[in-house]
Amino acid sequence: MSLVIDFHTHVFPARFKRLLQGKSGSAVENLRKQARGWLRPFSRSLHHTQTVLRHLPDPARRKLDSLTSFAPLPGLLVESTAEDLREAMRDSGVARALVIAHPPFISNSFILETVAESDGAFIAGVNIPRGTRGPGTVLKRLHADGARVLKIHPAADGEGPSSPRYKALLKAATQLGMPVILHTGCIHSRMVYKSPELGAVEHFKPWFKSFPETVFVLAHMNFHDPAVALDLAQEFRNLYVDTSWQPAESIAEAVRRIGAERVLFGTDWPLVGNNISVGLRRVRECIESGLLKPEDGRLILGGNAERLLGPACPSNSQPSPPSS
Ligand SMILES: [Zn+2]
Repeated sequence: MSLVIDFHTHVFPARFKRLLQGKSGSAVENLRKQARGWLRPFSRSLHHTQTVLRHLPDPARRKLDSLTSFAPLPGLLVESTAEDLREAMRDSGVARALVIAHPPFISNSFILETVAESDGAFIAGVNIPRGTRGPGTVLKRLHADGARVLKIHPAADGEGPSSPRYKALLKAATQLGMPVILHTGCIHSRMVYKSPELGAVEHFKPWFKSFPETVFVLAHMNFHDPAVALDLAQEFRNLYVDTSWQPAESIAEAVRRIGAERVLFGTDWPLVGNNISVGLRRVRECIESGLLKPEDGRLILGGNAERLLGPACPSNSQPSPPSS
C-alpha cells in the first residue's frame, strides 16, 4: 500500500483524559477504548449529517451548524491524545500526520514537544495567537525549532485579510518556504468561532494574489461550499485543498477541476471521532468506483504531502536553519 499522510489532525494535551481519572491507568484506558466503540454510531451519523447540511436552506443550516458545533466534545474524552492518534494511524495504515496547534487549547510548545517525541510520525503545524509580539520573528523561531506549516484561523481569531499580524506571518512564511494552512468554511457557531463569516474563503483572494510563491492549503475545502474553493484554486496555482469533511463526490470534483496534484488527504482527527477511517474510505470509494485513477489516489493520500513537507527524518528532528 502507498504511503499515507494525514495533512490535518490535532492532538490535545492529556487533560481531557485526566477528567476520567480516579481509576488505575489501565482501567481508564479500557474504559476509553470501550467508549470509543459506543460513540461510533453517533460519530457515523454526524459524519453523514455534516455532508448533507450544505443542501439545506441557509436559515436551517445556520441553526444546525450551531447545534452540532458542540457534538465533538464528548468524543475528545475518549480519543484526542498523541497515543490515541498513533493508535488510529496504526489501525488505518497512516504513516505520518500533520498535528496542528490551536492556542490556547493546544499550544505551539506542546505541539513541538509532541512532534519531537514522535520519531518522525508527526509533523508540526503552528498557529501564532493574537497578541503575540513580533509574530514574524516568533514564526521564524518556531520554524528553527521544527515547525513545518503555519496555520491561520481567521474565524477563530476574529481577524480579517487586512490584519497586519497576518501580513507579517505571511511574509515570514514566504521567506521560510512554509506552506500556510488556512481554515476555510463558514460554520455558523458564535460559541466556537469569534467571526464565523471570516471562514468564507473568498475574503482571502488578495493574499493568494500577493503571495504567489506561497502554498496555501484551503482546509476543509470551504466546508459547506467547496465550489468556491475550487473556483479560486483554478484561478491561483498556489492553492491546494484538503479533503477533511468532504464527501467522496467533492473529492472527485476537486480532482476533475484542479488535478490530483493539489488535493491533500486530511481528516481533522479527532473532531467527531473515527475521522481517519471515514476519510480514507471516501478517497478509496472514489478509486473503486473509477472516479479517481489509482495514481490520483496515491498523490492525494501521501504523494503531494511528501512533496510539500519532504521525507520523514526521525533521527534529525532539528531542521536546517532558514535560508533567508
Ligand atoms: Zn482542524
